Amino acid sequence: MGYEEYESIIGLEIHAQLQTKSKMFCRCSTQFGAGDNENTCPVCTGMPGALPVINKKAVEHSIRVGLALNCRINEKSIFARKNYFYPDLPKGYQISQYSEPLCEKGYVDIIINKEKKRIGITRAHMEEDAGKSLHYGEYTLINLNRSSVPLLEIVSEPDLRSPTEAAEYARAVRAILIYLGACDGNLEEGSMRCDCNVSVRRKGEAKFGTRTELKNINSFRFIEKAIDYEIQRQIDSIEAGKKIVQETRLYDSTKNQTFSMRSKEEAHDYRYFPDPDLLPLEAKRSWIESIRNELPELPEERKKRFQTQFALPEYDADILTREKGLADYYEVVQKESNDPKASSNWIMTELLRELKNSDKEISQSPINPKQLAELIRLINDKTISGKIAKDVFADMYRTGRGPSAIVKEKGVVQISDEVQIEKWVTQVIAGNPKQTEDYRGGRDKLFGFFVGQTMKLSGGQANPEAVNKILIKKLKGQA
Ligand code: ADP
Ligand code: MG
Ligand code: ZN
Repeated sequence: MGYEEYESIIGLEIHAQLQTKSKMFCRCSTQFGAGDNENTCPVCTGMPGALPVINKKAVEHSIRVGLALNCRINEKSIFARKNYFYPDLPKGYQISQYSEPLCEKGYVDIIINKEKKRIGITRAHMEEDAGKSLHYGEYTLINLNRSSVPLLEIVSEPDLRSPTEAAEYARAVRAILIYLGACDGNLEEGSMRCDCNVSVRRKGEAKFGTRTELKNINSFRFIEKAIDYEIQRQIDSIEAGKKIVQETRLYDSTKNQTFSMRSKEEAHDYRYFPDPDLLPLEAKRSWIESIRNELPELPEERKKRFQTQFALPEYDADILTREKGLADYYEVVQKESNDPKASSNWIMTELLRELKNSDKEISQSPINPKQLAELIRLINDKTISGKIAKDVFADMYRTGRGPSAIVKEKGVVQISDEVQIEKWVTQVIAGNPKQTEDYRGGRDKLFGFFVGQTMKLSGGQANPEAVNKILIKKLKGQA
């Protein structure tokens, strides 16, 4: 039987590291890249008798995220102990929230095939991170710098139906986290991690199939590939008459396969119970409302504003606002160039293409927004032609230099001098007697040919408008 007879069901658990200076329950720094075990103390190394203290900033960020994800924020939530053994978990339990989380029942809207699809958020709860085991051949070392770093776990409903939807949802959540300043969204450094729960069922079946969980996937591309692989693997197993086991699997991106890591624990295996060292977390309604009132502009709103304020098509506005850094970049270019649509065009075509080719983020762009705006101004005031501008852009991208210096150095300033243009036009007409005759005989389509030849003769520097005007005069005039 074919893959198309099955439907895939996907739910994501996203762990977002909250942007705080200190850890969730102690004063140790959260700084990335510190020396091994440099950021540790008796609390986060799990010494007996050490007492945790809740980080207020982490709670504030969590409420902010919960509100942006349209969740209900509970005034009372409980920190619980999730008990399990791991060498990098010295306490023998992780402090998390279980039956009474801080945020519940929200949603995120994503766009799939130009249509809006609402993805439910089951809950978003606070927890602390564990440490890290580093394996060196025969032995393993433990680094506890990450131990007790504050995380918000955002759990989606099993509403996603394809690898693309899953990646799109993860992107949307990441964009919101970054817009809020709650998480830096850096997948490579592990400040955002994604577990993908995947199951398949025959189309038309009401019950979900058994799910597997793919752990800690660290790029959007891998989210898609890992889920895609897993869906096919499950269908193949079922078709071969095997049962899917509920388990945790790891994705190997070099082999593009998933491997069984361990059988999946059930919630009751963790023996959750309220942490006796921590009182219930109380978030007063007035505090929640003041955070709500100060929420920054989010991707959805910014997109709408781009459409109205800058008269951009929805398509442009959507692409430009998906990432905060890109939207910020655009706003500078448009302000400095005073040409919203040209700004959008240059960013969406030339700049994004070059960034993609060189595998760079917008924050690493060799061309800063003021330089791009200057390029647009040079086109608009007719100093250079649009065609020359593309070459100048390529130079700017390669060297990081501003457009004016490049234009001056290359001597590519647009030529509008009519005497000069008339010389070129005369030369082109003289050199193409056959075409001239045909054109004058009524083959209007040849006009483009003459424009092209004149532009070429001028080395691309002739002002196209002036070329048009003079060509009409010269060709028609002598007919
Ligand atoms: P656990 O901690 O055991 O992983 P959670 O409740 O935190 O459980 O997360 C379960 C995740 O799995 C949710 O994102 C949910 O939407 C998803 N999920 C639940 N059942 C299925 C299923 N049958 N197929 C795919 N995803 C599922
Ligand atoms: Mg899970
Ligand atoms: Zn500490």
